[in-house]
Amino acid sequence: MLWPVSVNEDMILQVDATSGLMSGVKQVASPNHDPRPPGIETDLIVVHGISLPPGDFGGPWIDRLFSNTLPAQAHPYFAQVCAMRVSAHLAITRDGAVTQYVKFTDRAWHAGQSSYHGREQCNDFSVGIELEGTDTLPYEQAQYAALAQAVAALCAAYPTLSPARLVGHSDIAPGRKTDPGPAFDWPLARRLIGAAASACGKARQR
Ligand SMILES: [Zn+2]
Repeated sequence: MLWPVSVNEDMILQVDATSGLMSGVKQVASPNHDPRPPGIETDLIVVHGISLPPGDFGGPWIDRLFSNTLPAQAHPYFAQVCAMRVSAHLAITRDGAVTQYVKFTDRAWHAGQSSYHGREQCNDFSVGIELEGTDTLPYEQAQYAALAQAVAALCAAYPTLSPARLVGHSDIAPGRKTDPGPAFDWPLARRLIGAAASACGKARQR
């Protein structure tokens, strides 16, 4: 059954291609990035799921993980992951709020060992978007709406990106990663992204 979900027309996200920044969202600078390799086009968007600790939502913990300030003593799970040096370009919390951590022109550290159609190291050529969630609990409508707006804005700014080149972390790291998991509604996401991209004048690239 298709949900009667429409794209949130109040949310207008824009990306400045040169600066690599998205306007209208919270910015939290993550040190966990480096330059993209020269001569490689950014042409893939990777969707992830994250929650800290797993299954808990809210709080500052995603910001803190990507800022290398996650307090190890606050939860046993944090002690396991606080030394990881990871990031994503964007994260979308349960309420649909978007935060940017790394400029799109830089390489975020989200995919790890990965491969897409025979190309290794997907961080080199991808944009990483985290959704606050788990593999098994349905993601929120507000998150799909925000994801659609973000992907449309990215595709408008960078012609090498396309709604068709959107994958899950599990697609590029099978056997190692399972996110965003079976809870992620790909048909709904693709429908909303298609609508948002059309609104951005990108219909021909769907
Ligand atoms: Zn992931």
